[in-house]
Amino acid sequence: MAETAAKPAPVQADGKPPAKPAAKPAPKAVAKPIVGPVNFAADGRVRRRISLKYWSIRNARLLEGFYKAFAATLVKLDPLWRAIGYERAETPVAAVERAVKGTLFDCRMCGQCVLSSTGMSCPMNCPKQLRNGPCGGVRANGHCEVIPDMPCVWVKAWEGSRLMTEGDAILAVQKPVDHTLKETSSWLRVTKAAAESARS
Ligand code: SF4
Repeated sequence: MAETAAKPAPVQADGKPPAKPAAKPAPKAVAKPIVGPVNFAADGRVRRRISLKYWSIRNARLLEGFYKAFAATLVKLDPLWRAIGYERAETPVAAVERAVKGTLFDCRMCGQCVLSSTGMSCPMNCPKQLRNGPCGGVRANGHCEVIPDMPCVWVKAWEGSRLMTEGDAILAVQKPVDHTLKETSSWLRVTKAAAESARS
């Protein structure tokens, strides 16, 4: 059997071997979209929080009653807070508030809670952080224009408010967010104000 002749190596017109093809550039890391205070491209942890916050909205009346009793208890404890010092109590109370409300409402610790006026739907979950109702971009299915798979925070707020005994508080105009209060305890601030007003 005749042997097959080896193929000659390809050469260019000038006799040089062809240049090696340039190495492919490494694929660029795709940055997760960042909108609002957190990355809403939900990982597992965020998804769990999201389902719990919808539970809270569905049970807005129950939580409304619980919060009223809880707030009254905090005010009754005013002598204790004063003995400790409201400022000294701030860090531990804020830590508990962050854990509890983070779990139940996906709270962002804005420090000026309006859950009682928003059907237990935290407005700081809105990518635009709107505190006085939805933007004009709510989709026909009631979802957010920025995050299409997320129901609009304000659509949920309205649903939650309809379950509450004082749900019409949703119609009150909220002040702009004071960002200097971020990460502080709303519970303690409201308690201190209520206790001071009761004493005066
Ligand atoms: S309104 Fe502010 S304090 Fe209340 S749940 Fe939302 S981020 Fe937290």
